[in-house]
Amino acid sequence: MDPAIASLRDLIGHARRIAVFTGAGISTESGIPDFRGPNGIWTKYDPSEFTIQNFLRSTESRRRYWRRSGEMYRQILASRPNAAHLAVARLEAEGRLGAVITQNVDGLHQAAGNSPGRVIELHGTALDVACLSCGARQSRQAFQPQVQEDGTAPDCPRCGGLIKPATISFGQSLVPDVVNKAEEETEASDLFLVVGSSLQVYPAAGLPLLAASRGTPLAIVNMQETPHDGYAQVVVRGMAGEVLSAAATPRASPVPLPV
Ligand code: NAD
Repeated sequence: MDPAIASLRDLIGHARRIAVFTGAGISTESGIPDFRGPNGIWTKYDPSEFTIQNFLRSTESRRRYWRRSGEMYRQILASRPNAAHLAVARLEAEGRLGAVITQNVDGLHQAAGNSPGRVIELHGTALDVACLSCGARQSRQAFQPQVQEDGTAPDCPRCGGLIKPATISFGQSLVPDVVNKAEEETEASDLFLVVGSSLQVYPAAGLPLLAASRGTPLAIVNMQETPHDGYAQVVVRGMAGEVLSAAATPRASPVPLPV
C-alpha cells in the first residue's frame, strides 16, 4: 500500500470523532465537475457570472444565471454517491464521525446515508430555492421545469420577491449559525480530514487552519496541491474514491455517536 494511504488509514483507525471537510473534488467521480480542477467549470465559464451582484443586476442576468446553474442542477439530479461518499457514510455508521462539513451543494452525502443532522452545508444546497425577500424555501423541482421551458427567472409565489437557488453565491454571506456549528465540530474533532478541496475559498478554507492551530491532526486527500499541505500530518495525492476505499475500511462493531 502507498505509504501516505497507510498513514491516513492509521490516523482514521485511531480517531474517535472525525470532522470530514469536503469540496467539489469528492463529487467529480459522481460526474459533477469541480470549479478549479483541470476540467473544472472555470475552464468553461467566467466566475463573475455566478456572483450575487450579477444575479441582482437585471432580469436578463437572472435568466442567464438560472440557465447556467440549471446545467449543474441537471448533473446533480443524474448523479449518485461514489465510493468516497460511501466511505464517509460508513464512518458515521461506525460512530466515528462528528460531522461532514461540506462546501458542496449536491446533497450526495445525505444520499450516501449520512444523516442530515451531521451534514453541515456551508454553501447551502442546489436542491432547494429561497426567496431573497421573505426567505421562504421550497424544493427546486417546483420551479426548474418551468424555468427550462420558458427561460424565465421565477418570482416568489408568496411575496413576489426574487427566487434564487439556495446556494451561497460569491459575494453572499455565509449563514452565521452554520459557520458556528462548523467551527464547533472542528474544535470537537480529533482528526480533520479534507477530501477534494482546493482550499482556496474562504471562510471555509479557514477551518483546516483552525484544526491545525489546536494541534488536531490534519489530513488532506486531493488530486492537486493545496495551500495548506504544509500544515497536514498526511497528504495523499489521489482520487478520493480510491483513497478513501483503502484508508477508511469497515470496522466490526458500529456504535453511533449521539447527534
Ligand atoms: P475546487 O473546484 O476549488 O477544488 C476541487 C479540488 O478537488 C481541486 O483541487 C481538484 O484537483 C480536486 N479533485 C478533483 N477531483 C478529485 C478527485 N476525484 N479526488 C480528489 N481530488 C479531486 O472546489 P472547492 O474547493 O470545493 O471550492 C469551490 C466551490 O465549489 C465550493 O464553494 C462549492 O460550493 C462549489 N462547487 C460545488 C460542487 C458540488 O456541489 N459538487 C461542484 C462545483 C463547485
